[in-house]
This record gives sequence, structure tokens and C-alpha cells, in this order.
Amino acid sequence: KVVEGEALRKKMHNTILELKGNIRVFCRVRPLLLDDGVENETKTISFPTTIEAVGRGIEVIQHGQSHPFMFDKVFTPQSSQEEVFVEISQLVQSALDGYKVCIFAYGQTGSGKTHTMMGTPGSYDDKGLIPRSLEQIFEARQKLKEQGWKYEMQVSMLEIYNEMIRDLLSSNKSCSADSGNRQQYAIKHDPSGNTHVSDLTIVDVRSSKEVVFLLNRAAQSRSVGKTQMNEQSSRSHFVFTLRISGVNETMEQHVHGVLNLIDLAGSERLSKSGSTGDRLKETQAINKSLSSLSDVIFALAKKEEHVPFRNSKLTYLLQPCLGGDSKTLMVVNVSPSPSSVNESLCSLRFAARVNACEISIPRHQTSMRYLEPRLSYG
Ligand code: ADP
Ligand code: MG
Repeated sequence: KVVEGEALRKKMHNTILELKGNIRVFCRVRPLLLDDGVENETKTISFPTTIEAVGRGIEVIQHGQSHPFMFDKVFTPQSSQEEVFVEISQLVQSALDGYKVCIFAYGQTGSGKTHTMMGTPGSYDDKGLIPRSLEQIFEARQKLKEQGWKYEMQVSMLEIYNEMIRDLLSSNKSCSADSGNRQQYAIKHDPSGNTHVSDLTIVDVRSSKEVVFLLNRAAQSRSVGKTQMNEQSSRSHFVFTLRISGVNETMEQHVHGVLNLIDLAGSERLSKSGSTGDRLKETQAINKSLSSLSDVIFALAKKEEHVPFRNSKLTYLLQPCLGGDSKTLMVVNVSPSPSSVNESLCSLRFAARVNACEISIPRHQTSMRYLEPRLSYG
């Protein structure tokens, strides 16, 4: 039967995932835009078509020299939002099965991170990963209800700017630095692996529409900061968190999943000599947190005893969702513009470092329910 075949395919897919470990790296090259300037016709990025590299390989030409890379998946400028989401929907689904999931968008400013995550508001085809994930989750929740599952969902949205947390759903716009004697937005982890950020607004949500409404509110809150704080949105990390808890009383099962969707600060290297004062501080904070992120993923992969989670707010905040049997996806966004070739190479090298490490999931930690998905997505 078709349904059984599909289930078997999913099961095999999950088994493969298990054997491969739980870090995936995708690369996405955005189309050339008018703003990129078309005067330079030299092609700096190409996609190899050999059997083993098709859909996975990317080649950058710099000063006449070729730099090839391989990732779990490479999306070309022709890839639609839908095509990208198809490759990610399983991962999103696993948050409903009780997994902790992190999806990061990495790349220089203008490479397509926000387009990949959010898309263009109002345009159906251009919807990004976040709205698509929410629709899938709430649709699945409805179907799982028929099987006796009751889910509660909560969202929070914050940004990390200069190593300070800002609550994007709060009506009070202050940063943690402004607080008095008591530390606001302090990050705490409890032994059961939950993260608490003091004073952070957490909202119970019942539909994807409600969350999209909150996303728009958060976007507005970010743009207010933008004029005040020197293009803050490209200089800060945006962290969207959906906490999912499910109970099935007849089956006596509980699941607690987390879906973190992160639009990272622009990875471009600003010239140190040119930046002073606040700009320099900003640059240092971004460099520190992005390198901490790759250090953490690297240390986890090498199963090092000490994982430097505490070196940045971002890694400390996400600590419970990065180790153990959690799942991580890094989407590296790249601009095809010849003037961006140096930055593109830097991004791909960062991704290659992350990609080189794979963590294998200890078998006893793998939930059987994940191996036999209750729902099929195709
Ligand atoms: P970032 O968030 O990395 O700074 P954006 O997502 O804002 O970059 O993208 C920069 C510009 O490129 C925007 O105008 C966006 O609409 C456009 N863009 C990015 N990716 C795509 C894509 N895959 N298809 C069409 N336009 C894109
Ligand atoms: Mg952006």
C-alpha cells in the first residue's frame, strides 16, 4: 500500500539520519539582484553536475582558482521557498515528537537569511521557513488530537545585540544593561534541560495565525531599534522559540520539544581599522558569538569534555538544544555577486567546519515514536 511504503521510506530516512548524526548543513545561493550591479559578468559560483555532487556541491572561483565544497544539500538561485521547506519539514516535525531542534540562517548581510527564514510578508509563494513550520506544526497538532494527543505551545522572541538580550514581545523596550540591581534576562538552565530567561515574555499560542501576528509585532520592535541603533537588525541575532509539550493520557506519554529558528547577525568581517567605538564593540560581539557557535558545534562533534557554551549569550541560551540528541541545521546563505566572493568563501569555510563534524545519537536515547512517525509528510 502507498501509505505503508511511505512510512517505510520515512523510517529508513530516519535511520539514515541516526547513522549520520544530528548536524546538517545546507547551502543556499540567492539569485543575482539588480542591486548587485550586473557590470561584472564573470560567474563566481557554479554547481557541479557529477553524480556524487549534484544537489550537494558548490564551487567558488576566486582569482581564477576553484574552491569546491560539499554539503548535505545545496539550493541554487532557482530553488523556491517550497523546495527548501520540503527538505526541512521532517526536522520541524521531530519537534512535535519531543526533540529539541535548532535551525540557523548564517551569512553576510544581504545574502538572504531573512528571506529564507521569514520570506516576504503577504506573498504566499515567498513565505519562509518560520511561517511554513508553524503551519505544519499546527496542522499536525490538529491531526494528532484525533489520536488522543493534547499539545500546548508557547512562543518567545528575542534578539541578542552586543551580548545583551532584548525581549521582542515585551512592551517595555529596555535592554538588560539598563536594569537596576537585579539582572534582567538572566539565562538559567534547570536539570531537566529547560531554559529560563528571567522576565522574558512567553505567550501561549493556539494557531499559526496568532504566531504570525506576534512575529509582525516582533519585526516592528526590531525596526524601532534599527533607526536608533545603527541597522541593529543585521547586527543582532534573532531567536524565535516555540516550546511544545504534548500529553497522551491513554498512551501515558509525554513529549517536550523545542523548535528554535535563528536569523543570525551578518557574518561580514568589518574592517577592524575602520570601526571605532560602538561599531567596533558591535563587530567584536558578533565575531565572538559566531565563532563561539562554531566552536560549540565542533566541540560537541568531537565529544570533547568541555564544550564552551558559556563563551557567548547565544550558545549559552541554546545550550540544552545543541547537545545530546537534539538536532541542528545550519543554512548558509550566499550571495552570487562577484563583489561578495571573499565573504561567500568565508561563509562556506565556516559551514565546512561545522559540516565536518557529525554527532552520532546514542541508540537508547532515540525515541521509537520518532522511528515510526505518526504522520506522513511528503
Ligand atoms: P539578509 O537577511 O541576509 O541580510 P535578505 O533576506 O534581506 O538578506 O535578502 C537581501 C535581498 O535579497 C532582499 O531584497 C531579498 O528579498 C532578496 N532575496 C534573498 N534571497 C532571495 C531569494 N531566494 N529569491 C529572491 N530574492 C531573494
Ligand atoms: Mg536580515
